Amino acid sequence: MNPRWNGQFSCFDLVAKTDECPRSIVEVRAPNSDIEIGGGDFVVMAGPCAVESETQLMQTAEAVAHAGARILRGGAYKPRSSPYSFQGLGVEGLKILRKAREATGLAIVTEVMSEEDVDVIAEYADVMQVGTRSMENYALLEALGGCGRPVLLKRGMTATLEEFMRSAQVIAMAGNPAIILCERGIRTFETATRNTLDIAAVPVLKTVSHLPVIVDPSHAAGVRSLVPILSRAAVVVGADGLIVEVHPHPERALSDGDQSLTFVEFRRMMSDLEPYLDLQREACELRPQLLAAGGAD
Ligand code: PEP
Ligand code: MN
Repeated sequence: MNPRWNGQFSCFDLVAKTDECPRSIVEVRAPNSDIEIGGGDFVVMAGPCAVESETQLMQTAEAVAHAGARILRGGAYKPRSSPYSFQGLGVEGLKILRKAREATGLAIVTEVMSEEDVDVIAEYADVMQVGTRSMENYALLEALGGCGRPVLLKRGMTATLEEFMRSAQVIAMAGNPAIILCERGIRTFETATRNTLDIAAVPVLKTVSHLPVIVDPSHAAGVRSLVPILSRAAVVVGADGLIVEVHPHPERALSDGDQSLTFVEFRRMMSDLEPYLDLQREACELRPQLLAAGGAD
């Protein structure tokens, strides 16, 4: 390992990689069979930015399940940049997510913004999402320590990897070791994209932490045409999965329509990822042999 990273990240002892704990697998409960993240399967989470209606969510759930997604995303409590935007359906949205879970067998990931909502959201969700704006909300992170569900921790939009790891450590110290890290783009001087996907964050995090790492190409790009190619990049750098926005009618979406894929685009993206996933699997199988031959770090 790069010696500079050693002290920088090893202090977060519950989430740092060690010889005893080189990787951890996060188990997500699902209606039919449980899902493992970080264990070799590439897990795709997909769905609308926000739950808008039963029809919208059911249609999306069927479409993404059919294309190979394993987890349905959809915000019921929305952290919006503007106070005038749609704020989500709340508990009504959670009930719709549950219906879609029962109908499709998909597990559910949905955002929790406040420690007061942890218990109610944990009743419906299989994975608790902490958004970029909440990465340093320590009261929330601590409340997630006892929630009994894995946490999908998104990187703060201006957070360094050290700060990101520190937040993961807070959740682990509060009693919850089931954490999935998510690189979702950071704020830079670039304006052509909504955020800048820090693709190097994936191999750095995979080197310094035992936790699984996924990529959110939708919020990184802000435009749907870039989502498939950024997803491909995520596979190539060794991510354990993706979280992607998909909507039946992106032009009518109440939030994040510009970056949401249509059903057809999502299906095409999933099948175009296949050869890259084969390469990733091959590289994983080859790695122990290369190490034995002294040919890889
Ligand atoms: C989202 O997933 O819809 C979301 C609000 O993401 P982020 O917290 O990364 O902006
Ligand atoms: Mn969104």
